[in-house]
Amino acid sequence: MSTQREMALVALIDDITAVASATDDLEEAARATLSTVCEVTGWPLGHLGVPADDGEVFVSAGIWIGPIEDFPVLAEIAATTRFAPGTGVIGRVVATGEPVWSHDLTTDALAVRLLGGRDPGVRAAFAFPVIAVDGVVAVLQFFSEEVIPRDEPLLRVMTAIGYQLGRVADRRKIRDTAQAGRDRLQQIVDASVEGFVSTDAAGHVTEWNAAAARMFGRTREQVLGRLVHEAIVPERYRRADESGRARFLSTGQSKVLGRRLELAGARPDGSEFPIEIVVWATREANTWAFHAFIHDITERRRAEQALRRAYETEQQTVARLKELDAAKDAFIATVSHELRTPLTTLSGYLELLDDTDPVQRRMLEAMTRNAARLQNLVEDLLAVSALATDELAVNAAPVPVRQAVESAVHATRAQARSSNHRIEVETDAGVQNVTADHDLLVRAISALLSNAVKYSPINTPITVRAAPAEGRVAIAVTDHGVGIEAEDLPRVFERFYRTRYARDNAIQGVGLGLWLVKTIAEAHGGTITATSTPGEGSTFTLALPV
Ligand code: ADP
Repeated sequence: MSTQREMALVALIDDITAVASATDDLEEAARATLSTVCEVTGWPLGHLGVPADDGEVFVSAGIWIGPIEDFPVLAEIAATTRFAPGTGVIGRVVATGEPVWSHDLTTDALAVRLLGGRDPGVRAAFAFPVIAVDGVVAVLQFFSEEVIPRDEPLLRVMTAIGYQLGRVADRRKIRDTAQAGRDRLQQIVDASVEGFVSTDAAGHVTEWNAAAARMFGRTREQVLGRLVHEAIVPERYRRADESGRARFLSTGQSKVLGRRLELAGARPDGSEFPIEIVVWATREANTWAFHAFIHDITERRRAEQALRRAYETEQQTVARLKELDAAKDAFIATVSHELRTPLTTLSGYLELLDDTDPVQRRMLEAMTRNAARLQNLVEDLLAVSALATDELAVNAAPVPVRQAVESAVHATRAQARSSNHRIEVETDAGVQNVTADHDLLVRAISALLSNAVKYSPINTPITVRAAPAEGRVAIAVTDHGVGIEAEDLPRVFERFYRTRYARDNAIQGVGLGLWLVKTIAEAHGGTITATSTPGEGSTFTLALPV
């Protein structure tokens, strides 16, 4: 090979390298390569083969360099053939990934079948692949009218050129992939229900999605290129916004970036609305860019305010109710005190009255009974109002259990006698004293006995049994009365709770007795429990520490 030709080939590589690095359009680079190669080699025809849609099979790209119209047979074969791997010169290149040389197509087994006996008007042909990362992406083919033997140096140069052109295809693919990623991101931003805003380092808006346009009442066209704080920040915060950005750019520090902030947004008419915003910064091509997602929280604020107002109203109501409750307690306390003294006087005189006349005696008994009931009620009311102010005073001292039980029986005597109830007392020998407030203990047992009388038929027995139980004394009052439904049982100790039975049958009482028993039991570190079978009777057990 002549030195001149060698130099021309080297220059060819340089030319193609320059073309290949200047473009990422493979077709453009291939065209330039075809004509340069034809020029340098003196071969008259250049042709481009490209993959058909399915990739495996190649077809003519319809791109020719040189007077193809002078070679109708060749033109027709190229235009109509699908070059599967192995078919014709192009198919061979695709199958091997290597350059192919045919010194005379008319005698070459590769072409004979395609020609079918016709004269293509050309003799020698060579072709080489453009090899990208994904494999062969194009084939460059050349024809001569003469028979020319295989030219190894030329093929080596062509192989190198094929790789150069492959880089063009690779760059294109990378660019397309990156673009697809950007497009996808853009779609997400556009479709987001959150406002999305980007700015350059100086704060000029570079991105503004549809949600931002709706929220701030400004179109993309109106804000692109404008300073962001002029577009969305209320006048009085603009300076702070600007200096925050400046500080970040000079020191890299920010109180704002990456945090969820609640701020005010401004519309063109100057109106403001609450927003939640997250800002972050990215560095691209040596300069900073800022981005933000923005959420209009007007609705949330409104709900919060409504909730706060409702809470305040409720607090006022509660305070008012408390005042009323205190006034009522004070009233009960005063009235009960006022009732106590005359009642005590009345009861005292009743006891002194002569009861020799049977009729008068019955009347006297009725009066005594009712006076006792009134006194009980007054005592309960006094206890309730004392407890409302946390004042149940417990004067604890050793109390003989038997004696306390008997005092209670004595206190309910009048009530029991009128309904013919017998009260039996059983005290276990092991039971001696409990440490308790004598009067409160008697009151508690009396309340249990009074209930037993009220809620059981006349003539049925009532028992009070005191027995030791696990380091305590258990005082159990059992009746054979109406009993209590299971669903009522846990509630009978509540203040003012009465069962339906008590209400429907107008049994005397206000629903305070058991509550008081429970309060007394707990003030002594004890408990009150109940078991009951509706229709058969109930047992209330007061357990106190010894
Ligand atoms: P009051 O008897 O004044 O209604 P209590 O607090 O003493 O209030 O009792 C609450 C409720 O428990 C009563 O209304 C009654 O329905 C039920 N109760 C209490 N003791 C008995 C009992 N021995 N047998 C059946 N029901 C009872």
